[in-house]
Amino acid sequence: SWGVCRIHRQPPPPPVPNVVATWEAISLGKQPVPEYFNFAHDVLDLWSRLEKAGHRPPNPAFWWVNGSGEEVKWTFEELGKQSRKAANVLEGMCGLQPGDRMMLVLPRLPDWWLISVACIRTGVVMIPGVSQLTAKDLKYRLQTARAKSIITSDALAPQVDAISADCPSLQTKLLVSDTSRPGWINFRELLREASTEHNCVRTKSRDSLAIYFTSGTTGAPKMVEHSQCSYGLGFVASGRRWTALTESDIFWNTSDTGWVKAAWTLFSAWPNGACIFVHELPRVDAKTILNTLCRFPITTLCCVPTLFRLLVQEDLTRYKFQSLRHCLTGGEALNPDVRDKWKSQTGLELHEGYGQSETVVICGNSRDSAIKSGSMGKASPPYDVQIVDEEGNVLPPEKEGNIGVRIKPTRPFCFFNCYLENPEKTASSEKGDFYITGDRAYMDKDGYFWFLGRSDDVINSSSYRIGPVEVESALAEHPAVLECAVVSSPDPIRGEVVKAFIVLSPAYTSHDPEALTRELQEHVKKVTAPYKYPRKVAFISELPKTISGKILRSKLRNQEWGR
Ligand code: ATP
Ligand code: MG
Repeated sequence: SWGVCRIHRQPPPPPVPNVVATWEAISLGKQPVPEYFNFAHDVLDLWSRLEKAGHRPPNPAFWWVNGSGEEVKWTFEELGKQSRKAANVLEGMCGLQPGDRMMLVLPRLPDWWLISVACIRTGVVMIPGVSQLTAKDLKYRLQTARAKSIITSDALAPQVDAISADCPSLQTKLLVSDTSRPGWINFRELLREASTEHNCVRTKSRDSLAIYFTSGTTGAPKMVEHSQCSYGLGFVASGRRWTALTESDIFWNTSDTGWVKAAWTLFSAWPNGACIFVHELPRVDAKTILNTLCRFPITTLCCVPTLFRLLVQEDLTRYKFQSLRHCLTGGEALNPDVRDKWKSQTGLELHEGYGQSETVVICGNSRDSAIKSGSMGKASPPYDVQIVDEEGNVLPPEKEGNIGVRIKPTRPFCFFNCYLENPEKTASSEKGDFYITGDRAYMDKDGYFWFLGRSDDVINSSSYRIGPVEVESALAEHPAVLECAVVSSPDPIRGEVVKAFIVLSPAYTSHDPEALTRELQEHVKKVTAPYKYPRKVAFISELPKTISGKILRSKLRNQEWGR
């Protein structure tokens, strides 16, 4: 229940050195979460006042470029002003109330960040989505979430029009565009005229903040509900550790605005006073990314492993990055080979993190801890992460099992509320005292986690259990392999065998496939336990992936098994 009351007086800012520390202590689970929390009021507006008082370097809070010379730079104060205007648009002209749900599907435009903050200011629950959604995807999401409003750009407006009659809950359609469209409210036009005065809604920490549809790597996307505190406070500590952000940093995450990683960036960077850098990236390509790192003083970069696989194909020694000092990746497994190539050519370490739409950072390689190549690093506080069996019993080091996060006796605050309208799914994700991630790994005696694969992707060949990632990483070390995916394939004797789908590097495409198959099999037997070698190998031109660039092993597997 919402208990809406407006704040009429802003409390005075706490002493400067305590800003990050206060939220960090809560983020680390050392202090209780307050009953009321609102990221815009309690974090952003605070930075705005500090900035005004000269307690922050003259760094923008937000910096957007589009590659054709256009640029937007906002200080925290400007961000505050613009987002208050946006809040008035949502509340006034669109009549949205706290708790109402709004789908937010935009390319990487500054408006996305404004609207996200405006949602927080008004208590409107945002449902981010990616721009590649089809009319069918949009209908599924709008209906399932019963969204009252959608905000999108010209590219998707026709798709929305095609299905809006089937979405009875949908009341307002907002367009981010310089032109108008019948049946749509023009957001930018209203923004220009809106007042900069707005009283932030007083939200409870447990009130809903956002609903995310998962990537759908393993089935229909599920609705994951996050609260004001789960995201708003959950990343402060990992923002300081894994992403290593301070108020003088400029953080670029190339992720689409529709993925949780965009929110991860927002909620890690801004509490730590860092600047969020955005390139519109109408086309995601390696050269644009590398040139942008040379042109702008970006200190911190985050890309998915697929993108780093592309970047290391380039001659990186030809690029001189201006200020880059910390590199991050996550979202799927990083093959050590990519990390090695990146490091040897740029001198920069690649820090892998692991998490889900359901969580904040579960584990990661923080800036100051030693990296073990191929490992996802150690548990990220305040989570207690363990390897557990099917009943939720903790397994000893080196034993393969489920990655579990302890949720009993106390559910961490930085955790999703539930899978909305899916109590069975919510219940089945809990075993004993743990939330079961659905991913398999083992922990070594030093507390480092080693990812083996999603539970469904693990291959069971003659009762040997084989994680696809290990085989893929072994294959990736061979110069012939550009990208690969390893799945199970039926076999009359062994039940299942390992099959590798390989995309060849350009230099190898004309090689004899049979000889290459034998060579790659021998290579895997040499670099990893021989029983894991792929008995079947197929060369293909492209791997099936989700829109976010994750390899869809399930698709290849279903194909193999004729499903
Ligand atoms: P769905 O749940 O709908 O199938 P999804 O699990 O891909 O989709 P996300 O929540 O976006 O949706 O992704 C989280 C998953 O991504 C993790 O459970 C894990 O399988 C994978 N992942 C994330 N980071 C890593 C990593 N560093 N190494 C390996 N896998 C990772
Ligand atoms: Mg998942």
